[in-house]
Amino acid sequence: MRAFLKSPLFVTLAIVSLGVFTQSLQFFEHVYWNVWFKNRAHIEQTDAVVVSLDNGLPISSSSVASSGGKQAELLDRLAGMGARTVFIDYPQSSGEHDLGEEALKAALKRNSTRTIVVRRSSVKSGLNRSEPEEVSFKLPEGVREAVSAWNVNFIGYAVDTRRAMTVDKVWVPSVASTQDRGESQGDLIFPEFSLRLDSIPIVDARSVLQGRMPADAFSGKLVFVTMTNPQLDSALGYYGHGAQKVPAALVDYSGIRGSARGDANVLGWVPLLLAFAATIIAGSKARRRSVKLFVYLAGTAMVLVVPGIIREFGYFLTVGPSLVAMLIYAPLRSSQKWRSRVQMTSSASGLPNITAMAAEGVDRTFDVIAVSVSQYEQMLASLPRELHGECARQIARRIGLGSGDRQVYDNDNGHFVWLENSKTLDGLIEHLEGLRALFSSPLVIGGHVLDTTVHFGVDRNIDSKPMSRIQSALASANEAQSKGKLYEEFGEQRLAQSPWELSLHARIDEGLRNGDIWLALQPQYDFRHNRISGAEALIRWTDPERGVIPPDAFILQAERAGRIEAITYWVLERSIRMLDQLNAVAAPFQISVNLSARMVDHPGLVHRIADIVRETGLKDCSRITFEVTETFSMANRDQAKINLAALRTMGFRLSIDDFGTGQASLAYLAEIPSDEIKLDRRFIRSITLDHRDQLIVESVIGLAHSLGQEVVAEGIEDIVTLEALRKLGCDLAQGYHIGRPMKLPELLELVDLSQAGTAGGAQANV
Ligand code: C2E
Ligand code: MG
Ligand code: MG
Repeated sequence: MRAFLKSPLFVTLAIVSLGVFTQSLQFFEHVYWNVWFKNRAHIEQTDAVVVSLDNGLPISSSSVASSGGKQAELLDRLAGMGARTVFIDYPQSSGEHDLGEEALKAALKRNSTRTIVVRRSSVKSGLNRSEPEEVSFKLPEGVREAVSAWNVNFIGYAVDTRRAMTVDKVWVPSVASTQDRGESQGDLIFPEFSLRLDSIPIVDARSVLQGRMPADAFSGKLVFVTMTNPQLDSALGYYGHGAQKVPAALVDYSGIRGSARGDANVLGWVPLLLAFAATIIAGSKARRRSVKLFVYLAGTAMVLVVPGIIREFGYFLTVGPSLVAMLIYAPLRSSQKWRSRVQMTSSASGLPNITAMAAEGVDRTFDVIAVSVSQYEQMLASLPRELHGECARQIARRIGLGSGDRQVYDNDNGHFVWLENSKTLDGLIEHLEGLRALFSSPLVIGGHVLDTTVHFGVDRNIDSKPMSRIQSALASANEAQSKGKLYEEFGEQRLAQSPWELSLHARIDEGLRNGDIWLALQPQYDFRHNRISGAEALIRWTDPERGVIPPDAFILQAERAGRIEAITYWVLERSIRMLDQLNAVAAPFQISVNLSARMVDHPGLVHRIADIVRETGLKDCSRITFEVTETFSMANRDQAKINLAALRTMGFRLSIDDFGTGQASLAYLAEIPSDEIKLDRRFIRSITLDHRDQLIVESVIGLAHSLGQEVVAEGIEDIVTLEALRKLGCDLAQGYHIGRPMKLPELLELVDLSQAGTAGGAQANV
């Protein structure tokens, strides 16, 4: 369900529905019909003629428009020439007594069987309709009237009209309905936009009055006596006609034609949108690419063509929402595809990763095999960066070669997974030995010759889910490597015992991605300047199932599962990005990042950190302090020292964490080029009670200072301890009394307070 709510189709439908209710899709509706009728409208023989009172120009006093007498004469002439019905606009009254008006009334009475007086309307765009104008002319008894009032879109284009409506408390038919023979029932009438308006001739009233028209020009015709100036308030937009407004009489005639076609079936916006959604779903279900493409094209064509075509048969669809759906669905869908492609491939090698493998599913007839490549980190460190991907791809090719061209999935850090047809254990061992033999000849990558060995993990727990099978194979491969065995296979029992450990790799990656893993900052207080001058970055994991997982519990696991690098680099990157905000409030501000002892001797460490510095644009490396514990069990002490020295050369500060708890504190101090030592909280806790501890702390502070080191006291939980340390000459303090590990916004607030404190006196807790 959650996946559906995030799917491009659902997002599209949600946006479109919102658009419908806020009426913001009219633009698309407008464009569609305008383009449709621009291409589809045609010229036809019509039974209509427009007689223009103003000849399309602004009314001048001499024009026929303002003379009732001339209009009366006009009416008589048109009747005499055989006009079927004459629609004549209500005269524009001058308000004064006008002899012409009386003449007009008389003419209307004379020709009452074939005359209809039309009440024009002016467009009220805010209301999306045209409203009948006020008239003062009194219609003589027995003369019919009709109203021309159209619903319009946001820019005044005619959309539809009602068959009849109340005007000044009287029920008046609309002009469009006057020619019906009484069969039509529907309430709405739509213009027939497929009729091009230049099918209707417009003649100047003066030509009629001067007898310059052919005798049969009006015989049997519907004649509209009206004003044709497009600037008038009554003028309307007409789909397919262009931007210029047209006299409302032309739209009325188009409406008469529309009404003659029978009732309009108004279908609204939902059916087309549902049909569109259905094709999208059908397309996504189709397996073959060609079928998919065909279905999508059919869906697009449907939205573009069907509304226009069925309109000709009297079915009216609202197309705007579907059009918008079509426009936004495609980019949403491709961005989702792109995201999932990124999630499904290894960024280093471009090969599919285990997320992709799990998504494809694992059949019960297969064994899942994983390989762990020994010394992978060291191999990468000896290669230039641009060859790292090639290294992974070459290993994958070699595996593929040995196992019948199977797809090999890359899980980074020299771990690869693939499927093999199930065979007997003996057969499998023989096969794995063959694969290992393939790796006995060195890899040659860009002229670099690299030796390696491989260890395998096997999973044959066919009832487990794909991801746990993959994880189990990977964990087994690690185990095989640490035991120096050809392969390892975790049986169901082992799996049941430690599912957490087995899936940790994937969980950590997921946690980093979705925010379950986050960074807390614990403030550090500077005794010398009485301000909060830094913070230690401490990782936090709030797992939705297991709740808060303390770092001590998973750092160790992460180290074992080979995920500690990813975590550390993530912490470093986050910390650097937080520095800017903190320095904006309280410069200079520094952040301490814990560097796991397990990775201090990695040959790739300095490179990777240099990459992060570049990516984040960190200018001053001394704003980051790396904390290293003195208890680390380094495999490669020399490399560790080289790394630490290199980091220091780059400008980073180094701190010896938990000082005083290791076996060789003093030797360590001499060996490591540090800037700071952090006194472990076990000493700090008791200094106010135990005089010996106090003496130890005092002398360590003295020693550190004489070696040019700063001293940070950890675990300060009360003011007495804090003051004691201040007296002993300690430089910096960290502990619950100053502040617990907290989120960035809280720290920003606290730091802000402590800044104010420096100026004004009051301080946070201190
Ligand atoms: P640490 O580096 O010595 O961090 C100090 C620990 O002491 C933190 O525990 C902190 O919450 C706790 N602490 C601070 N003030 C007080 C206090 O006044 N009283 C008491 N009782 N405790 C206090 P936390 O966050 O549980 O971290 C435990 C250890 O986990 C850290 O010890 C560090 O070794 C490791 N760790 C935490 N985050 C990371 C990380 O991002 N990377 C690595 N590699 N290790 C981390
Ligand atoms: Mg620490
Ligand atoms: Mg510590």
